[in-house]
Amino acid sequence: MRESSSTYASRIRRFRLPRLCIAVVGADAPTMVERAESLVRDNPFLELRLDYIAQPLAALPKLKNFVELHPEATFVATCRRAVNGGKFKGPVAAQIAVLRKAADLGFQLVDLEMQSVESLKANDLRELYDRVGLIISYHDFKATKNIDRQFKEMSKYPADFYKLVSTATSLHDNVVMMKLLEENSAKHEMVGLCMGEQGIISRVLGVRAGSVFTFGSAAKGEETAPGQVLASELRDVYRIEMVDQATQVYGVAGDPVSHSLSPVMMNAAFRRETVNAVYLALHARSLKDLMACVQDIPIRGLSITMPYKQEILPLLENSDPLTRQIGACNTLVRAADGKLYGFNTDVAGVIVPLEQRMSLAGIRVLIVGAGGVARAAAFGLKAKGSEVFLTNRTVEKGQTLARQAKVKYMKRPDVAKQQFDVIINATPVGMNNTKQTPLDEKELNTKYIFDLVYTPAETRLVKMARARNIQVIPGLEMFVQQGARQFEIWTGKPSPIAEMAYVVSKALERQAAEEVGEEPEPPPKKATSKPAKKAVKKAVKAAKKR
Ligand code: NAP
Repeated sequence: MRESSSTYASRIRRFRLPRLCIAVVGADAPTMVERAESLVRDNPFLELRLDYIAQPLAALPKLKNFVELHPEATFVATCRRAVNGGKFKGPVAAQIAVLRKAADLGFQLVDLEMQSVESLKANDLRELYDRVGLIISYHDFKATKNIDRQFKEMSKYPADFYKLVSTATSLHDNVVMMKLLEENSAKHEMVGLCMGEQGIISRVLGVRAGSVFTFGSAAKGEETAPGQVLASELRDVYRIEMVDQATQVYGVAGDPVSHSLSPVMMNAAFRRETVNAVYLALHARSLKDLMACVQDIPIRGLSITMPYKQEILPLLENSDPLTRQIGACNTLVRAADGKLYGFNTDVAGVIVPLEQRMSLAGIRVLIVGAGGVARAAAFGLKAKGSEVFLTNRTVEKGQTLARQAKVKYMKRPDVAKQQFDVIINATPVGMNNTKQTPLDEKELNTKYIFDLVYTPAETRLVKMARARNIQVIPGLEMFVQQGARQFEIWTGKPSPIAEMAYVVSKALERQAAEEVGEEPEPPPKKATSKPAKKAVKKAVKAAKKR
């Protein structure tokens, strides 16, 4: 049975703790203090990983000043033993000595792993518990297995918080962790999350399910656990301090998905429209895993991305006629009856930026590619009365799509001989700064190039087009438009499209700066780059039209 709260409970009541704890590492006390000092103003909840210091007991007095100078902050002392995944090589008795000393110096909480707890005499544990707030922790660095049983064992010991950290090897492991939290967090002060890339969503969903707080890293490269997300991202993008049981869950699902700018864009939209919702990146290694997760997590809507746009359709209860005709779905909605419905907003993503510039009836458009996005473009433009041509690396695939969408297949050698109003690049060629282009310069006989690739903003194709005075429609516009439609489908509200375009263009600028090794600029008041400015302008125009 859990015993009554320790004398420290009043200092660490859940409502007084921030949701986000940042782990601080350093090879010695001065380095750790310097790092903690730079963080504590914005992050009043820090875990000092004393096990990273070579002689923590001797080094602790050097931390005393820092702790005393920040009575507003909450500090956790952790001295995890190497056998349990930490760096401290000493025995349990030495570990306890470090934690006691930390308590005497003013640390409000200490973290002690279950393996050490089990080897302690009841009196020694009681003594520690009476001296300081106690977190009993359990880490599984391989899997999410038997966490229920593990928690049962842990809860036999007195503690202020029970912390379970497992490793997610599938999306569904996050569900297992959430269920444990939901079932026990009303009775116990719990902290729960899954490590690993597959477990990233648990850092937000865990809090939603009752975890009193979660962990974030101070900076890239300073992660103390696999899959740890930047604290600034958890706070600024995912608004972790606002997440509660009523927070609606949305996300983007695909493989890979970590590069996606959808979380930045959609969370900004939710924030702007004050919707209590969070939008996560779900790395789904299989559709089966994704669907199992969707059934159990109260997901309201998903953006579906590569490679599942077509595969997912037969698994949905219903979809609109256009989506069925295209055979690809990029938007999933869970209706009030719990059923899953599919939509395709890629069509609007392609059509709207074009319609803002021209009337589509009768114009000659060449689509390069025959994948999911090319499908949306072909069906969408055909429906608008455009004369659509399509070419593709794998001729057979291109011909099949051309036949299905009732557009014309064009053999690649014929492209250079033709004149178009618009050429759309619906292949990934040019992504990630590759120097390749989907077409050669002599094939660009067109008034507009719409390059659907948006990372980077300035692909080689775009540069080539500009050099030939061809007007460019950046892929960013499609990205924002398809997202705007998703937002509207999910929330029934008009989308804050200018805000969405702005945050994505700034994220792209930051990415570009990081790639060339520049310090990313602090976010200025207004979008600065030409493409970004243009995109924002178009987006605002589009928003006004609707
Ligand atoms: P997909 O289903 O995988 O289709 C990719 C198409 O590109 C296929 O037709 C493929 O030809 C062709 N392709 C791939 N590599 C090629 C190469 N090296 N040379 C020539 N053709 C190549 O992908 P998708 O979902 O349609 O997406 C395509 C691209 O659109 C993405 O990579 C992304 O950059 C962009 N996109 C943009 C947005 C946006 O919002 N702006 C949204 C979604 C996608 P084969 O048939 O011969 O394999």
